[in-house]
Amino acid sequence: MYGYTTFHEGLMNNLIKSVRSGTSSHAYIFEGDAGLGIFSSSKLFAAALTCANKASAPCGSCPSCIQAGADTNPDIIYVEKPKDRKTIGIEPVRAVNSDAAIRPFSSARKVYIIKEGDALTPEAQNALLKTLEEPPEYAVFIIIVENSSALLPTVLSRSTLIHFPPVSDALIAKYVTEKYPDRLNRLPFLKKYCEGIPGAVDKIIADENFEPLRAASLDKLPKLLSRERIDAYEIQRFLDENKDDAEEIIDFWISYLRDMLALQLDADHGVINVDKINSLRALSGKYDPKLAVIAVNELITAKKMMSRFVNLKALSLRTALKIQL
Ligand SMILES: [Zn+2]
Repeated sequence: MYGYTTFHEGLMNNLIKSVRSGTSSHAYIFEGDAGLGIFSSSKLFAAALTCANKASAPCGSCPSCIQAGADTNPDIIYVEKPKDRKTIGIEPVRAVNSDAAIRPFSSARKVYIIKEGDALTPEAQNALLKTLEEPPEYAVFIIIVENSSALLPTVLSRSTLIHFPPVSDALIAKYVTEKYPDRLNRLPFLKKYCEGIPGAVDKIIADENFEPLRAASLDKLPKLLSRERIDAYEIQRFLDENKDDAEEIIDFWISYLRDMLALQLDADHGVINVDKINSLRALSGKYDPKLAVIAVNELITAKKMMSRFVNLKALSLRTALKIQL
């Protein structure tokens, strides 16, 4: 769309129409999951906002559009979280406030795109609020967030919230067909597993370790559901050998176990790992559904604990033994 990648053409069309009709607002929150290309969509919107030909914005041929396309438009300003920080503090926002007081360089508007807006500290948001309350007529703010609940109600109430939903299966299919024509055999699985997030498709295809690890996790599943103590140690060893991917392995197990439950309920359409359905069907016949439910719950607990940096070896053994109880 106008040379920009966007998975939300309908939504972007409406935003572009508002620019052309002069009804756009001063502050937007673009909300949606990572991997939906929201940053790229925000660039398209910024190009439309700064375009010299309002009626056909983004015209693609005015100096502003050309600079926007090359990422060199001085009136489109990006605010990013410093790589070594977990938050966006008050300093970069103060810089934005000062900069917003200066008229645009060459366009009619100045657009600030704040990436990872979830990371804005409350102090930073309060500082931004000062400008959002009385924005200069040329300034437009786009705050990109995964979850708008990370923002203060006062910031939300000053902004137009645009929610970017996950895309349709049909769009994922189109994306895979165009970008990865040699991976079409994986499409049924990708459609289910990526849950409407094109970026998740890219991640899986780029990760050479993904399929081997996923297959190995399925191989270990009977050990996880075993009643033998020795198998609990094998689970511990497996997770320890794949320390860096432990969380991913747990996600695989959870998704396999949920699939087994779906199969036990004859809800085959709910199966995510469609390419492994025969193995999962065979497994699901062997276990009490209650055990699968217990295992899912224990794995979810284990995942939560992992984020608190507990010892993985102890945690994995504890989890495997709890499933055996
Ligand atoms: Zn233009």
